Amino acid sequence: MNTSAPPEHFDVLIVGAGISGLGAAYHLSTQMPGTRFVALESKPTFGGTWVTHRYPGIRSDSDLYTFGYRFKPWTSAPIATADEILRYLGEVIEENRLGEHIRYQHRILSAAWSGTDKRWHLQVRREDTGELLHFSCGFLWMCQGYYQHEQGYTPEWAGMASYQGRIVHPQTWPEDLDYKGKRVVVIGSGATAATLIPAMADDCAHITMLQRSPTYFRTARNLNELADMLRQLELPEAWIHEIVRRKVLFEQGAFAARALREPEAVKQELVGNVRAILGDKVDVDKHFTPHYRPWQQRLAFVPDADLFQAVNRGKASVVTDEIECFTPTGLKLKSGDTLHADIIITATGFKLSPLGDIPFSIDGQPLEFGETVTYRGAMFTGVPNLLWIFGYLRWSWTLRVDLMADFVCRLLQHMKATGAQVVTPQLRPVDAQMPLGPWVAPDNFNPGYLARGMHLLPRQGDAEPWQNTQDYELERKQIPQARLDDGALRFE
Ligand SMILES: Cc1cc2nc3c(=O)[nH]c(=O)nc-3n(C[C@H](O)[C@H](O)[C@H](O)COP(=O)(O)OP(=O)(O)OC[C@H]3O[C@@H](n4cnc5c(N)ncnc54)[C@H](O)[C@@H]3O)c2cc1C
Repeated sequence: MNTSAPPEHFDVLIVGAGISGLGAAYHLSTQMPGTRFVALESKPTFGGTWVTHRYPGIRSDSDLYTFGYRFKPWTSAPIATADEILRYLGEVIEENRLGEHIRYQHRILSAAWSGTDKRWHLQVRREDTGELLHFSCGFLWMCQGYYQHEQGYTPEWAGMASYQGRIVHPQTWPEDLDYKGKRVVVIGSGATAATLIPAMADDCAHITMLQRSPTYFRTARNLNELADMLRQLELPEAWIHEIVRRKVLFEQGAFAARALREPEAVKQELVGNVRAILGDKVDVDKHFTPHYRPWQQRLAFVPDADLFQAVNRGKASVVTDEIECFTPTGLKLKSGDTLHADIIITATGFKLSPLGDIPFSIDGQPLEFGETVTYRGAMFTGVPNLLWIFGYLRWSWTLRVDLMADFVCRLLQHMKATGAQVVTPQLRPVDAQMPLGPWVAPDNFNPGYLARGMHLLPRQGDAEPWQNTQDYELERKQIPQARLDDGALRFE
């Protein structure tokens, strides 16, 4: 870093130009006009997740009435392709002139808080020129997502090196991958597998979903009847967006409550729907009846039952078994069966990346993020002037972007009004005996990438404001009313 040159300084610096960073930029520019802010993004373009993932069929598994922002109507089918999402985000940038605030190909390498000048100092590398730059800011708004973009997670299996076909992780999809007429095995049965398989099935000789254990799938047509009806009535799109959003949220809330209240009935319903489509072609008890409660992991949505239709056409099949080892021609399974494959796709998830793998320090001391306690799943004890957007895992991620953005703007306005330069969450004497638990309770929600990386994440308490509830219905009421003067936030 060129330390002799003064840093380029901003009131607020946003890390990332994915759906969270762009939402942050929109809310800052509309709720706090005049704020000097910049969004630094390491990629050459915006969109984050929706740029990184380019595998066949890539699409949302949430409806865009809630995965879209509250301020920009969604006007198409609820489940959207990556390209449609990118078009929507491009319009948000264009319509709100956010482009002038975004710098692409700027990777943050380190972040250091200085109590002397009460600023974050960031070392940044230009990805196009290699130049090292120095930025500083009063408030650091982390919108870097939650996983490493460079590489997905692939477990190590015995014999992998001997396999003569191609191993592909969906996150780093090779542009030249030719799967026409090939035998393909997809390891995993989450949303990614459920997307890939119907998109590839008709081109492959055969595609097999290999899962260790079954997943819940929900299926429906990719349309929203209420939205289509309101459009026939020629209502303004902003009204349609708001009405449909409320209905979707109401229904999701009711579903989540039922999944908790009567898990067995919900389970039978979900599995029954799959059985109705697959009939007796497939052993539904074995392959589509999960061992966990519905909603304990994200429900994979299958629009228009396309995954099951590929199975019905005989182009795709499901195997529930465990991998013993890779062989030169495919996989040997623990049951003793073998699967031949020209291509093996490891839809095995992400590598968790809290705080974007950026080394953080506070007045020269390295920050051990896992030793902090979270304030509302967004700020951290002992970490000044920093907020992370970690969205909802079961609800649409973006609902939390809008909600937390309102909170940041209220917090910054409060600091401006009171002349405070620093805000740091701190446990109060009354919180001293509070039991602390993991960032997300494993019996609440337990996907593999969180389980693997839980020790890297902050802990949470058992009462407001120290919880990461992951409960939109609760937070939509709590956060707008959150008191700033309850002592949990220390202002200087
Ligand atoms: C395939 C897939 C499908 C998904 N579908 C849904 C869905 O339907 N509904 C849902 O709610 N959620 C979904 N998710 C979760 C999804 O990641 C989020 O909903 C959302 O897109 C995350 O947005 P984000 O902006 O917070 O993070 P990201 O999309 O991860 O963007 C973060 C950005 O920060 C940049 N960045 C990171 N570190 C640095 C650094 N050091 N310097 C500079 N820039 C940096 C990255 O390059 C990236 O552009 C999906 C995830 C995946 C992987």
